[in-house]
Amino acid sequence: ESKSSGKSRACLFRPEMAASFRRRTELEGEMREGLAAGQFELAYQPIVEITSGKVVAVEALLRWNHPSMGRVSPAEFIPIAERSDLISDLGEWVFARAAADARRLPAGVSISVNVSPMQFRQPGRLVAAIRAIMEREKVSPGRLEVEVTESVLIDDSRQTLETMAELRAMGLRFSLDDFGTGYASIGYLATYSFDKVKIDRSFASVIGDNDAARSVVELVQHLADRIGFTVVAEGLEDDAQVKAIAATGIPLAQGYFFSKPEAIETLVARLATAGTLTVS
Ligand code: C2E
Ligand code: MG
Ligand code: MG
Ligand code: MG
Repeated sequence: ESKSSGKSRACLFRPEMAASFRRRTELEGEMREGLAAGQFELAYQPIVEITSGKVVAVEALLRWNHPSMGRVSPAEFIPIAERSDLISDLGEWVFARAAADARRLPAGVSISVNVSPMQFRQPGRLVAAIRAIMEREKVSPGRLEVEVTESVLIDDSRQTLETMAELRAMGLRFSLDDFGTGYASIGYLATYSFDKVKIDRSFASVIGDNDAARSVVELVQHLADRIGFTVVAEGLEDDAQVKAIAATGIPLAQGYFFSKPEAIETLVARLATAGTLTVS
């Protein structure tokens, strides 16, 4: 054992770490029960064509409403689920719910589902589950898009490529989520054929006055034109950000400026009253 690992082991006994361990263990148990008790639901956030405001897709975002803790953020509970086998149960619940909800949305609107890198580590289970759901729900597979983050590509690229190819053969499409923040290299855009690449929300707030950040975003759009994927700008909150993104030629966007994630009923009603698939 090295000195440094001995040191980090000692850190495990700091009181605040014991508290966070207790919180994790508690949440894990509560999640298991909550899934069975129907405490989870999906919120859907539109992805729109910037020039027309037309809704082309919605992203399914998992929501947990705990009876006594209230709303727990996926930013907190997803990483905990990922440390146990719970992520596959949760992920399969999400996929099934989203596939069932697809029927309630106009045929031109596709649904994006976040799939955890941990689910890709059990490729047999993932593919079988998705196949079973698609057969049961009879949803056209072309309407379902799998969102993966770059960490899925780093884990085991050969196995991931095979799994993606299998799902692609079933008709599913793929988005690369949160691009530009982690370790993903531009080379991934050539190796893996993504249908969409989502530029991380951290770019939205700086692109207006940061030339370097804008150059990166412009480069991604340039590659999109050459390679043939579609770029989505994530997390646009105001008009200035939308204008700055639109100026780079990026066609699609998502963010509070257009719509917050909302219940399927609300979304369906809004799309129906508007008469057209637009958000303003
Ligand atoms: P993500 O997949 O990148 O989803 C986008 C997140 O940004 C969502 O947070 C969304 O509510 C938020 N967002 C959208 N527009 C804006 C904006 O204009 N401003 C700001 N500040 N935020 C915006 P949410 O729902 O809290 O989810 C956080 C993350 O949790 C997701 O990031 C995703 O990584 C994970 N997640 C959520 N649902 C699922 C799921 O069903 N399965 C898996 N594996 N992960 C999920
Ligand atoms: Mg996502
Ligand atoms: Mg994202
Ligand atoms: Mg994210």
